[in-house]
Amino acid sequence: MILAQLPRFHLSILARPSFSLSSSHFNFLNPKPPVTVARTLFSFASKSNLATVEPIPLPVSDSSDLDDAPVEISLDKLFIPPETDVSGDDPASLTARILKGSNIVLSKYARDAQVVQADYVKSSVKTEDCPADGLPEFALVGRSNVGKSSLLNSLVRRKRLALTSKKPGKTQCINHFRINDKWYLVDLPGYGYASAPHELKQDWNKFTKDYFLNRSTLVSVFLLVDASIPVKQIDLDYASWLGQNQVPMTMIFTKCDKRKKKKNGGKRPEENIKEFQDLIQGFFETTPPWIMTSSVTNQGRDEILLHMAQLRNYWLKH
Ligand code: GDP
Repeated sequence: MILAQLPRFHLSILARPSFSLSSSHFNFLNPKPPVTVARTLFSFASKSNLATVEPIPLPVSDSSDLDDAPVEISLDKLFIPPETDVSGDDPASLTARILKGSNIVLSKYARDAQVVQADYVKSSVKTEDCPADGLPEFALVGRSNVGKSSLLNSLVRRKRLALTSKKPGKTQCINHFRINDKWYLVDLPGYGYASAPHELKQDWNKFTKDYFLNRSTLVSVFLLVDASIPVKQIDLDYASWLGQNQVPMTMIFTKCDKRKKKKNGGKRPEENIKEFQDLIQGFFETTPPWIMTSSVTNQGRDEILLHMAQLRNYWLKH
């Protein structure tokens, strides 16, 4: 299988023999750090790190104060990119390097994140028909209605572009959008349509799985999960499949602006996110990167672009 030879991002992390943090050492292959480290929790709620990397204007946010509530993450739950050394960082400086609303540490590869140009290129029904120019790409996938088109709109800031994927005949295709003539955003068919005939669903599964396993320029799948509703088995199944097949994955939690706790015992986004992560923990050797987003407030937009930039630039170099 081609997969094993690819310069996949998280495989590089797994290949690292060990990882040290301040005076304590723990093996990255064993995600359970010593108790002293595990008890060290970092709060991060500072401003987006974007401005420190390049001058992309920060999005206007109408989100509630709760968006700035500190989120605590233990060290072993952070995503630390390869070639990123945090051993000399004290808690405050490490906190400053974590992308807001995520578990992602910024690396030296986080540059050229801005989207200045976005063009629809083509819709393909087979992996072999996808663009063959070798540019790196990121695939967006998620249950139908998860907010995939809204996120795509928000990333490229062009409403009509994302609508392209919603045109009849294209919802079941691999839709390629070229960004800055340098990389691709790929919109994959949504899964979990209640109304789709069984055979059609199987077919989509087959071709998206083939794409995940054989698309050599795929840097990472971005799995969208609705954080405003309880965890769905179909999303867990998807994450599990990606984990078991060692397909690099970033989790994008959508609709994080929907904060109202429902009277019927509904949970807040943070609670749903935590539950999702606890449930998928066993599928991955190291914690996958995740980012909280909202297409209503633009929360997470710049963070996604920076994360894509660091994955992409690392991929291009290796
Ligand atoms: P898709 O089927 O995954 O492409 O989902 P859409 O982008 O079409 O969104 C489905 C529905 O969710 C629409 O009614 C959107 O307005 C709504 N939606 C999408 N993103 C968000 C979000 O971040 N916050 C909220 N509150 N609603 C959203």
